[in-house]
Amino acid sequence: MSELSELYQQVILDHNKKPRNFRKLESANHSAEGYNPLCGDHLTVYLKLEDDAVKEVTFEGSGCAISKAAASMMTQAVKGKGKQDAEALFAAFHRMVTGEAYEASASDLLGNLKIFEGVREFPVRVKCATLPWHTMHAALNNKELVSTE
Ligand code: ZN
Repeated sequence: MSELSELYQQVILDHNKKPRNFRKLESANHSAEGYNPLCGDHLTVYLKLEDDAVKEVTFEGSGCAISKAAASMMTQAVKGKGKQDAEALFAAFHRMVTGEAYEASASDLLGNLKIFEGVREFPVRVKCATLPWHTMHAALNNKELVSTE
């Protein structure tokens, strides 16, 4: 577990310092705004969907290190995926960080996102980690605003 938490810290710090896909996407055809009032995390997720697949995904906004790293890794994870696969990943990620059981197949799906598993021990932080995913899900489904409240 200590090895995992060390990796977790390194990855969070790295993504917080150099968030991937951190920009507005001019060609986006879907977007949503997410807000976590408990922590103050606030971000917008931009998606370019083509033939029900995520061609491009970016985000911008401000928030704590966990929300920013989670958003950064979310964009890497869903880019190039079909809508259904992106939704399946969201469901698996959500189950993992809220401590619900998830299937072995979901574990493979999650890949390096599994470093967020430790978040379940910090209930306040769960919303920080899931906010980018809720927002991506909202964008996919044409909802414009999501709040974790
Ligand atoms: Zn936060």
